Amino acid sequence: MTAQIIDGNQLSKQLRTEVATRAQALKAKGITPGLAVVLVGDNPASQVYVRNKVKACEDSGLHSVLEKYEATMTEADLLARVEALNNDPAIHGILVQLPLPAHIDAQKVIEAISPAKDVDGFHIASAGALMTGMPGFWPCTPYGCMKMLESIGYDLRGKHAVVIGRSNIVGKPMALMLLQKNATVTICHSATPDLKAMTLQADVIVAAVGKRNVLTADMVKPGAVVLDVGMNRNDEGKLCGDVDFEGVKEVASHITPVPGGVGPMTITMLLVNTLEAAERASS
Ligand code: NAP
Repeated sequence: MTAQIIDGNQLSKQLRTEVATRAQALKAKGITPGLAVVLVGDNPASQVYVRNKVKACEDSGLHSVLEKYEATMTEADLLARVEALNNDPAIHGILVQLPLPAHIDAQKVIEAISPAKDVDGFHIASAGALMTGMPGFWPCTPYGCMKMLESIGYDLRGKHAVVIGRSNIVGKPMALMLLQKNATVTICHSATPDLKAMTLQADVIVAAVGKRNVLTADMVKPGAVVLDVGMNRNDEGKLCGDVDFEGVKEVASHITPVPGGVGPMTITMLLVNTLEAAERASS
């Protein structure tokens, strides 16, 4: 079996066209969806991420503001900026790029964002909403994974999903989203004694670890769907995921590549959340 590739670039293009259409409809009512991206310091990877996010907004007809601050910015000043953005009617979504410099308490900053503008979905109110099935913003990366499953018409009811990784931004919300769609969910992590025994039972595997080759072909049940969230560098310095793509694609029914899989979907879901925030604010 050679797996069907779930193309994150292609799906993103489709979803971003839908975002642009909905943004146009809001503009006709005099509202331009707006995202504020706040970057503190000069982390090179963060600079690339924020540039991509701002460009994606522009391409889809969303208003975006990039606020860049020196790494020496105080926590109090950052909290004051977040508060000003909370009160800015032109801004519907606020994203503070992580990581923040060590002297700033990132959780405190995230909690300062109004839950109505928490388009990253990291606020405790957003986590609680996901946990309880209430309306809120879902974290973009696992939300993107759900859209990828939806794109292949995958019905999770009664299926066994194994999530590898339990971070607050990927693994845990991923598990809750799969559960909400009636999958039976197992969460694995660094203290899981026999990962292979778990993954071999899975109809769906989401790898969100940050280590190359965490998932190899011998760990995958034939016909399973494999989503690779990981972002690593291989020996040649090229971007790769957590999954041994070449091996696993011969066993899985569907697989996401890295690059061109979950990555572009993450930014796309940020646009979707920002649009949603603007729609909610306008209704
Ligand atoms: P993280 O906070 O470092 O979490 C990694 C998780 O993997 C932890 O729960 C850890 O377990 C678990 N783990 C580590 N080694 C393991 C092993 N050998 N077997 C099973 N589980 C193991 O990372 P994250 O923020 O969730 O991100 C995970 C990966 O996704 C990274 O490569 C990151 O760059 C990537 N990512 C990609 C996107 C995207 O847009 N494509 C977005 C976000 C993240 P413990 O909890 O026990 O330590």
